[in-house]
Amino acid sequence: MITILMGAPGAGKGTQAKLLESNYGLVQLATGDMLRAAIGSGSALGEQVKSIMSAGSLVPDDIVIKLIEQRLSTGAIGYVLDGFPRTPAQAEALEQFLGKRGEAVTAVIALDVPESYIVERVTGRFTCGSCGAGYHRVYRPTAVDGVCDQCGGKNFVVRPDDQQEVVEKRLAVYAEQTAALLPFYEQRGLLTKIDGTGTVEAVAERLAHVLKLRNPVKASA
Ligand code: AMP
Repeated sequence: MITILMGAPGAGKGTQAKLLESNYGLVQLATGDMLRAAIGSGSALGEQVKSIMSAGSLVPDDIVIKLIEQRLSTGAIGYVLDGFPRTPAQAEALEQFLGKRGEAVTAVIALDVPESYIVERVTGRFTCGSCGAGYHRVYRPTAVDGVCDQCGGKNFVVRPDDQQEVVEKRLAVYAEQTAALLPFYEQRGLLTKIDGTGTVEAVAERLAHVLKLRNPVKASA
C-alpha cells in the first residue's frame, strides 16, 4: 500500500502523514524531513542542499529519488509519501522503481487548501526540537506556553523556509513544477482531491474515508 499525499506547502501533508503512521502503522517517508536531518547532522548531503532549501527551491531529482529508493524497502504494511514526488521526473522514477518490484502506487490524495490560507498556516508553525511534535501559534498551540505537550521539551524550532518570502517562492515552485503531477495521477485513475481546510481531525476523517475506499482491507485496521 503506497499512498502519496500531495498538496501545496502548508496543506497539512506532514501532519496527516504522521497520523496515518500512528493510526494505521504506515511508514511516513518525508523527503523534506530526510533533507533537514541531513542538514542537522552536517553531512555532505546536508551541505549540498542547505542553501537550495533555504531559498525555497527544489533539490535535484537524483538526490531525492535516491533517498526514497533507499527507504522503500519491503516489510512495512505500507508507506505514505509526503513531499515526494514533486516533479514529473520523480513521479516517473518512482513508477519505474516500483514496477521493477511488481508494485505500484495505490492512491494519490491531494489536500486542497486555498492559497489565501497557506501563508498564515505556514508562517505560524513550529516544532519541538526534542521530539519533533508539530504545533501552530494559532491553530495548535501547546497546552502550556513554551512546553511541548508530548515530551515536556522547551526548545522549539521554526523552519528557515517558513518565512513569508520563502513560502511565496515555494508556492510558485509548487505551481510551476509539482501541480503538473495532479493530471499525471488523474490519468492513471489514482487521484482523489479532498478538502484540506478545517481541523486536523476533520481532514484526517476525510483522508481515512478515501483510504478505506481505495484499500478496503488494509486501511480498516
Ligand atoms: P517539505 O518539508 O516537504 O516542505 O520540503 C522542504 C524543502 O525540501 C523543499 O522546499 C525542497 O527544497 C526540499 N524537498 C523536499 N522534498 C523534495 C522533493 N521531492 N524534490 C525536491 N526538493 C524537495
